[in-house]
Amino acid sequence: MKTIDLEKLVRPNILALKPYSSARDEFSGAEGVFLDANENPYGTLNRYPDPHQKDLKAALTEIKHVPAEQIFIGNGSDEIIDLIYRVFAEPGRDSVIVCPPTYGMYEVSANINNVNVIKIPLTDDFQLNINEILHKTTTDPSVKLIFVCSPNNPTGNRLKDVKVLVENFNGIVVLDEAYIDFRADRTYLPKIQKYPNLIVMQTFSKAWALASARVGVAYANAGIVALMDKVKPPYNVSKLNQEAALKALSLRHEESTRVSKILNEREFLIEKLEELPLVKKIYPSDANFLLVEVSDADHIYNHLVNKKIIVRNRHSQVENCIRITVGTSNENRLLLSELKNLSL
Ligand SMILES: *Cc1c(COP(=O)(O)O)cnc(C)c1O
Repeated sequence: MKTIDLEKLVRPNILALKPYSSARDEFSGAEGVFLDANENPYGTLNRYPDPHQKDLKAALTEIKHVPAEQIFIGNGSDEIIDLIYRVFAEPGRDSVIVCPPTYGMYEVSANINNVNVIKIPLTDDFQLNINEILHKTTTDPSVKLIFVCSPNNPTGNRLKDVKVLVENFNGIVVLDEAYIDFRADRTYLPKIQKYPNLIVMQTFSKAWALASARVGVAYANAGIVALMDKVKPPYNVSKLNQEAALKALSLRHEESTRVSKILNEREFLIEKLEELPLVKKIYPSDANFLLVEVSDADHIYNHLVNKKIIVRNRHSQVENCIRITVGTSNENRLLLSELKNLSL
């Protein structure tokens, strides 16, 4: 069992912070005449939402087997990424390691928070350059955080050396599992009990089909969650969002049906894409998208846009690659027929 000194990792001002105490912190009962929060007594969305998202956390506890005090709910994962910087990284002094090609928000959010970004690119087979990362973390005490994404966006593969990283780095490892529901057997979630420096992020935006609701989840040791709770805006997750997530969890069979449909369609797409001459390589994917190397990414991207089919041009990250999200059967067939026309 690894131990870390959380008080040394956290920013001193956050450690000392006395958090805002909302009306719903001071009285949290459900029944009564509520004249404490300056709410409007009329309407249906007139009351402030539960700032601790108790019902949603209880539902997640049942499904994920993680106690409520180890669950943090954010207004999307993007809020969680920002909060992690604000809790742990001193602006103008501390550093984060990110491993491109990967999700762009880790770097943007660091820039917003004036946190120094150290880029250690993935290897040619899109795995962590573990030696270089560990060398950096042992020689540069400014490194407080590492963000890794597995399955990784935009490459689609899982990273092998997350365990080595968590065991050997004494700062915080944030493992973004936004796509793990498409490969649920490989989650690192149970490892938060063993590694107090591990934050596992998941989201309702992908497999749970709730991108517009904005609900992200972080699982970590209770000390980290308590720090994030201190810093978050009191009512960061609206009642509408909480209810949408709860409803999705209560209809779990729908999630698994959606996931298996998407996985079947992904295999169909791979099979058909492989037949096209303009497709040079399809990278293996454990997610709901495919990174595809094509003959000319800019040209193919523009052609598809003209046909009102929008893929993501990732040429700036991985040469001549486009990222294709797996759509409905109909959408995938439209894409394939346009690509076929282009091959003629
Ligand atoms: C889509 C995605 C997310 C989800 O972000 P939300 O703010 O929860 O919608 C997080 N991380 C990665 C890598 C993603 O691709």
